[in-house]
Amino acid sequence: MASALPSSIVVVGSGLAGFGVLRELRRLSPDAKLTMVTLEDGHFYSKPALSTALSKGKTAETLITSNAAKMAAQLKLDARIGREALAIDCPSKALLTTGGPVPYDALVLATGATPVRPSLDGEAAHRAIPVNQLEHYARLRKELPDGGRVLIMGSGLVGTEFANDLISSGYHPVVVDLLPLPLAQLVPAAVGEKVRDALAAEGVEWHLGRRITAIDYKVPAPGYVATLDDGTVIEADLVLSAVGLRPNVALAAEAGLDVGLGIKVNAYGQTSDPHVFAIGDCAEYEHGLSAYVTPIMAAARGIAATALGTPTEIRFPPLSVQVKTTLLPINLLPPPRSLAGQWQCLDDDAQGSKHQFIDTDGIVRGYVLTRDKCEQRMEMDAKVGEFA
Ligand SMILES: Cc1cc2nc3c(=O)[nH]c(=O)nc-3n(C[C@H](O)[C@H](O)[C@H](O)COP(=O)(O)OP(=O)(O)OC[C@H]3O[C@@H](n4cnc5c(N)ncnc54)[C@H](O)[C@@H]3O)c2cc1C
Repeated sequence: MASALPSSIVVVGSGLAGFGVLRELRRLSPDAKLTMVTLEDGHFYSKPALSTALSKGKTAETLITSNAAKMAAQLKLDARIGREALAIDCPSKALLTTGGPVPYDALVLATGATPVRPSLDGEAAHRAIPVNQLEHYARLRKELPDGGRVLIMGSGLVGTEFANDLISSGYHPVVVDLLPLPLAQLVPAAVGEKVRDALAAEGVEWHLGRRITAIDYKVPAPGYVATLDDGTVIEADLVLSAVGLRPNVALAAEAGLDVGLGIKVNAYGQTSDPHVFAIGDCAEYEHGLSAYVTPIMAAARGIAATALGTPTEIRFPPLSVQVKTTLLPINLLPPPRSLAGQWQCLDDDAQGSKHQFIDTDGIVRGYVLTRDKCEQRMEMDAKVGEFA
């Protein structure tokens, strides 16, 4: 494997996907020339830790588990920190960056996704802090007053985890979502109700089935005032925005590569140009987007081998996700978004609940476990099996 071609591989991005594929590349090939181009500062941290960081007393600095210099030395990288990838010249196999062109034999796009900014009225709407990067968390820590009231837009995985973390750390989260229940796109309604009630019992305030129309500055300052579509007014010291992410596809689209919701890849992680790969939050696999850690690690293994000259299909294991709501522990395997089917409750008692998602052919394609029943994760994983 060490002598396999191509020898020069360029990776754009220093998130879990970028570093994930770089680690695999270096593991398979001690000699390949590896270049990383990133807009960020190149430190390594685990993004899922952002939504449990407050209760663990972490700062943005202490979330970093390995700094840029250490990562570059460990992986023997040519690290182009703070550089932007501007364009891909596919015919010449060159990545154009703010630091000049970088030639490649294989290019891996690990460019992540950008937080969606809801279009809202109000002079302070732009002050809402997204929660997708270390620097967003640094801003949250800087602007959050002790015991402050925090308005969270969005009750998906990230918004709900932040509500759990804030209430567990002595703050006062107020969550607003258009949908009627938290985690509504991931779990059956019965579980959403339990999550809502478990967090409400600790003090989380929910405004579900409601839309924020405007965010203005509070008078007198400091603080914010949000107005909902039913006229409710919510005062807060800080606003977090967790309403979703949009895959970064511009580089690929401008280079003429196939894009859909994300950058489209085949079973090997290759885009419509076989020398260019995509991985992580920016990629659209054959089964759709998959913005979680487990598929990133699986894709990193396949892509690294293929990029080094051994075509290797990505094998996705069951993509179980631990929802970090410590007030109601949940383990889930979300069914693909486009899949038709229904949830079935298998068990619901004082130890927790167990639901499975059955597709129209009667095949188990997802599950949700709560509380002590999270221990049955491996059994449920086996039931769902592997799909690729
Ligand atoms: C709060 C939170 C909690 C989460 N919890 C979980 C969890 O419990 N379990 C789970 O499985 N998943 C979880 N996720 C999802 C998971 O963390 C993400 O799927 C994963 O981290 C995405 O990694 P990535 O490398 O694809 O993207 P990113 O981390 O966004 O990295 C993208 C990189 O690309 C760089 N970049 C982009 N464009 C350019 C350019 N033009 N030039 C140069 N560089 C560029 C950026 O600077 C960045 O370094 C969570 C996500 C969040 C936000």
